[in-house]
Amino acid sequence: MKAANASLARWGTTIFTTMSALAVEHGAINLGQGFPDEEGPEEVRRLAAATVLSGPNQYPPMRGLPELRQAVAGHDSRRYRLDLDPEREVLITSGATEALAASFFGLLEPGDEAVVIEPLYDSYLPIIERAGAVARIVRTTPPEWTLPRDALAAAFSPRTKLLVLNSPQNPSGKVFTADELRFISELLRTHDAYAVCDEVYEHLVFSPADHRPLITLAGMRERCLRIGSAGKTFSATGWKVGWACGAQPLIDAAARAHQFLTFTTPPNLQRAVATGLAAGDDGWFAALATNQQHKRDLLAAGLRRAGFTPLPAAGTFFLVADRRALGFSGDDGAFCRYLTTKAGVAAIPVSAFYCGDGPEGFIRFCFCKRDAVLEEAVGRLVKHFC
Ligand code: PMP
Ligand code: GLN
Repeated sequence: MKAANASLARWGTTIFTTMSALAVEHGAINLGQGFPDEEGPEEVRRLAAATVLSGPNQYPPMRGLPELRQAVAGHDSRRYRLDLDPEREVLITSGATEALAASFFGLLEPGDEAVVIEPLYDSYLPIIERAGAVARIVRTTPPEWTLPRDALAAAFSPRTKLLVLNSPQNPSGKVFTADELRFISELLRTHDAYAVCDEVYEHLVFSPADHRPLITLAGMRERCLRIGSAGKTFSATGWKVGWACGAQPLIDAAARAHQFLTFTTPPNLQRAVATGLAAGDDGWFAALATNQQHKRDLLAAGLRRAGFTPLPAAGTFFLVADRRALGFSGDDGAFCRYLTTKAGVAAIPVSAFYCGDGPEGFIRFCFCKRDAVLEEAVGRLVKHFC
């Protein structure tokens, strides 16, 4: 039998799938894969359900329902003073994952280079590589996650087509500062490069941090594709409704790939998300951040009691903890399997977000769970380690 595609085969199964399966097998509390255990706004879910019954249930327009494209543009205008033409500058996709893939397939050519910053989300490298491009990886490491500016500048070359920027960043919780964004924008201008901005955690930013989309900086309007996800914003990760916004040539490029990847996204979910985005300013977005900030602090305090050293997290729903004081001799992968099977709490090794050997001693916990679940998880860890 002939071999399947080797470029994809070499990545194996994602760490999120692996750890969730292990958590189910061992009845562990799953603080690994990132998904909330509480539902998002009821009116949004009710509208989705009603629209399944009333329709439309047939193919929506390839670039997305007009009402959702308008809602995305309206949201970005209110929140970031970013003026987008909903007809030409917004593309609705099946999750941010598809928006990322459509951006990479739509922009990259064989021989191009893409600058990516570690730690990085697992879908970037396989698709960049499958698009024929070469990734130039710039490493940041815990506990500071400082952006090495010289290394970042050195990663750019005349072949650089784009940079991938994830802020707020999974798994570090880092929110890039205004100064870092300015530095990045200068590099993009100097090297005539684009940025694919993964901003799926834009509403999960904790005071005093502030999220500023790179596309709003001087000279960036024509260079950035800004990617969002209803899954994160409305606590509905299974819905897979996402979008990309940016200048028409970039959206046209992503749409050329989107039409052959999925073509469309379920219309009922698109309609519900449109309503949610229009109404979210009235409280849902702020409540989401306040609520998650409380959960972050609850879990951090509990982890400290169990002997971990939690690192600060300015955004996302993830917390990285230093586990070295616990004295386990294996690597982080082995530690996470041990934690899941023996202590009954699943987590993700931070090294999984690195290409090759990553930093050891750090694991990621997801805190978007009911308080009682977080308390039970902490109870299990304290009982096991103390
Ligand atoms: N980017 C990052 C950084 C993520 O953490 C996730 C979460 N799964 C995604 C993209 C994908 O988002 P979606 O579920 O909307 O495809
Ligand atoms: N983004 C989620 C996380 O980081 C996982 C998404 C997935 O399982 N593909 O946990």
